[in-house]
Amino acid sequence: MSLFDEQQMVCPQFTEREVQALLRDHYGIIAAALKPLGSFQDQNFQVTTDDGQLFVLKIANSATPPGELAQQNQVLAHLAARDAAFPTPQVLPARDGTLMPSVVQAGTSYAVRLLTFLPGQMLARVTGMPGPALLSALGEFAGRLALYLSDFAPPGNASASQWDLRHAPEVIRAYMGYVDSPAHRELLGYFLALYDALVVPLLSHLPMGMIHGDITSYNLLVDPNSDPLLISGLIDFGDIMESYAVGELVVAVSETALTGARDPLLEAAPLIAAFDRVRPLSDDELAVLFPLVALRRCVVAVSAAQQLAFEPDNAYVRELSTQDWPVLAQLRTTPPELALAAWRAVCGRDPHPGAARLQAWLGTHQAQLHPVVDRSLLADAPVLDLSTSSPALRDGVWEEPAAMRAALTHQLAGRAGLGRYAETRLHHSAPGSAAEPATLHLGADVFVPAGTPVYAPLDGTVVRAAEHELLLRHAPAPGLVFFTRYAGIIPAAGLTDMSAGQALGVVAPAADSAPLPPHLHVQLGTELVHGVLPSLGHASARAAWLALCPDPSALLGGGVVAAPAPTTADALLARRGRVVQQSQEYYYQRPMPLVRGWRQYLYDDAGRAYLDAINNVAHVGHSHPHITAAVSRQLALLNTNSRFLYGSIVEYAERLTALLPEPLRVVFFVCSGSEANDLALRLARAYTRQHDVVVIDGEYHGNTTAVDEISTSLLDNPEAKNTRPWVHPVLRPNPFSGPYPASDPEHGAKYAADVARALNDIRAQGRGVAAFFTESLLGSSGGVALPTGYLPAVYAAVRAAGGLCIADEVQVGFGRMGTHFWAFQTQRVVPDIVTLGKPIGNGYPLAAVVTTPAIAEAFQQTTTYFNTYGGNPVACAAGMAVLDVLEDEGLQAQALDVGNYFRAALTNLSAQHEQLGAVYGQGMYLGAELVTDRESKAPATALAMRIAERMRELGVIVYPTGDYYNVLKIKPPLVFTRANADFFVAMLDRALHERL
Ligand code: PMP
Repeated sequence: MSLFDEQQMVCPQFTEREVQALLRDHYGIIAAALKPLGSFQDQNFQVTTDDGQLFVLKIANSATPPGELAQQNQVLAHLAARDAAFPTPQVLPARDGTLMPSVVQAGTSYAVRLLTFLPGQMLARVTGMPGPALLSALGEFAGRLALYLSDFAPPGNASASQWDLRHAPEVIRAYMGYVDSPAHRELLGYFLALYDALVVPLLSHLPMGMIHGDITSYNLLVDPNSDPLLISGLIDFGDIMESYAVGELVVAVSETALTGARDPLLEAAPLIAAFDRVRPLSDDELAVLFPLVALRRCVVAVSAAQQLAFEPDNAYVRELSTQDWPVLAQLRTTPPELALAAWRAVCGRDPHPGAARLQAWLGTHQAQLHPVVDRSLLADAPVLDLSTSSPALRDGVWEEPAAMRAALTHQLAGRAGLGRYAETRLHHSAPGSAAEPATLHLGADVFVPAGTPVYAPLDGTVVRAAEHELLLRHAPAPGLVFFTRYAGIIPAAGLTDMSAGQALGVVAPAADSAPLPPHLHVQLGTELVHGVLPSLGHASARAAWLALCPDPSALLGGGVVAAPAPTTADALLARRGRVVQQSQEYYYQRPMPLVRGWRQYLYDDAGRAYLDAINNVAHVGHSHPHITAAVSRQLALLNTNSRFLYGSIVEYAERLTALLPEPLRVVFFVCSGSEANDLALRLARAYTRQHDVVVIDGEYHGNTTAVDEISTSLLDNPEAKNTRPWVHPVLRPNPFSGPYPASDPEHGAKYAADVARALNDIRAQGRGVAAFFTESLLGSSGGVALPTGYLPAVYAAVRAAGGLCIADEVQVGFGRMGTHFWAFQTQRVVPDIVTLGKPIGNGYPLAAVVTTPAIAEAFQQTTTYFNTYGGNPVACAAGMAVLDVLEDEGLQAQALDVGNYFRAALTNLSAQHEQLGAVYGQGMYLGAELVTDRESKAPATALAMRIAERMRELGVIVYPTGDYYNVLKIKPPLVFTRANADFFVAMLDRALHERL
């Protein structure tokens, strides 16, 4: 093979002046500006003319045969003819009518072309991590390109290209010497061997075709203002070649989808699926996809190493080269068998054709299979539920192996038991990990005493005998090979060839660190995966794993020991869309179905544990045992409305008011924050006999008609300000984006002056003010603390005008501020009415209004108040239990300690990221505002949402709020620790670095 002569690979070196001259002479173009564009071997410029027209000038490397350039031109013309809207450049004729004039420099002749300019930005510059929507669009784009090129007649004698996958192994071997790191060379060796094993046998079956062969994130253009990103063009047809037709997809996957930071199988899935929809892949093409994707990346890696050895200052190549090894290292740990099954599944194919064949054989040979353990042991054996939603697993028992084992042993009560296949298991959920844990159980378990004999179900040979594991290979019929695996076994000595019924060993005792009682894990395999059968797989590759390790029920006598398939998130969302009102929004584009909460974690049905940084409702932690017990106990005793006499409402009201300053001594019980605020408004209006309300602009106070009227949050209520003349929004005192910066020593007074302005307006209209309504730390804006002295000044002005001061503590109360139990105390004021909600019942619907006897009395003069569920015995039990836990666990002090630590860490992070514009808040109510840049402070709304989505993938739940959805609201359960704060900050840092 004759690849490029290395000496000729230097890019052409025309000066700007020379380029100006050639543009003028050959095209009659006066270039006002020339911008060099990166290239491996050519010299390219973006040309701007005086009147703003844009072109691309390409000066080809002198080593490129002219025939190849002519062919590129033909391909571009062909594509334009097939689909005029397909966004590829067109070649423009020179003055003499030719498409490719040549220019001579120092005796060497260079071919020059002028191309139309495609709008958009290079994908690599717009994002470092294309999302699934873009990858899907890209797959479709690549598929269409493959279709269009399928009828382009290839030339007879094209020269060999280093980028042609047919030559990839040779290129890698030739350039391997340029790679210094032994670890990197090991990677290359592994992928070459994989190619020999998986691709070589299929080479003659691969369809050939003309391909662009270079769909990379450096050649794709996207519209940077679209969301999701839209493809606006494909450039650089310099590598067009006849090769394996699947090569178009191979390159696109290898160089646009794989980042090294996420699961490569999941990343590539949307691209592959979309390609297959447009240009269906053959079984053989699917079979070579993974090894070829890796091989292509190897070619890029060695080519960069070679190029850098020759041209160490080529920044473009250096940038590219850093990205390849992490991706290759990740592909190295990805079993190719799994990749094939997973990618077949996303293309709607049977993930592993062997699975159905194996189940059919087992079905017809059930009677001949010898029982793995004595069948009488399994008669009536109960099935243990170890799933993520198992009601038997509660109060965090799964976190402590010994406690879990004891609980399960107790449940078995001396009987044998079964553990399910295809179950996503809670005790593998790994809270605090950025990667998806392997939770999917790929075998079935038989819980029997240690020492119970285990028998071979059918003839086989031993592939592997390890300390607690035995792997057998079976070939019971022509063309049928499969594996069985036994874990939790002490294998008998000297096993080699086995016949059905032969003793394999005995069940091993459970180790001290084992979460499960002694059991035999029985597993089937259609194929080995990286040479083994793992016990667990990732639920995200469920279909693939279950095809590689099919249901082993047949080995246990045929009874079903498989967990039911979960409802997929997509299916649940579709059903939700039909029956639940769309304006009741949900978090995330593709939400995860949640099944459990525990302390500061939420768990989805696949067993992923997410650090919950958003649920201030679960104030003392999700599913707190003390609260669960109190509520359950009371629910079993008495639950009725507050028109009856019962002790808990009194005890709780006494306890609650003791936490509030005088004269806040009278409690109204309601069920939600909105009801509390609604009632607070009624109290204020009854007391003052006025109607107008002053609110802080952009705040949210709830969903009843009256409270909705005073909620001016742009996001929730865009019409609010134009339609309610009795509602008077005042300037929001935001130290970052407000008109008066925190650096202004008078900023508090200036913001307070705006309230005086509103009060004057009301007076000028001949009315009075009923109330000033605010949170004492602005929750809806993302946790913005009020300036020192703000509320004292405002309260004085409001009271002087005859109004009441209402503190909405629905979000911010109950110790969350750390320094104080109530947020209003941070401002050293005492409100006339305080409203409580969310954390008050830790999720049980309870809310309250606390006011002064005088105000309550005035209200009573006008009306009575009844609320069926408000303050019922169960609600009061929940409220009381929350106060117990807050005291017992010292959670206010924890909020102070962790909150200060967390805020400092976020502030540090903001010093490293321009886009993390501001950090807000106090205690455990924090906010992180994302902006496009600090100068303009423009809200980075799309970025904030992408960060939330990405942090979810990394195991953290946080979500944007604020007028522009660009402030991450951080208000976790108070059991959040410093380590949790570290994890949060590390994941936010990672997401910000990833250029999402
Ligand atoms: N006040 C504030 C400050 C709130 O943020 C909310 C809810 N987000 C409410 C009141 C209303 O509470 P609920 O949803 O319980 O009715």
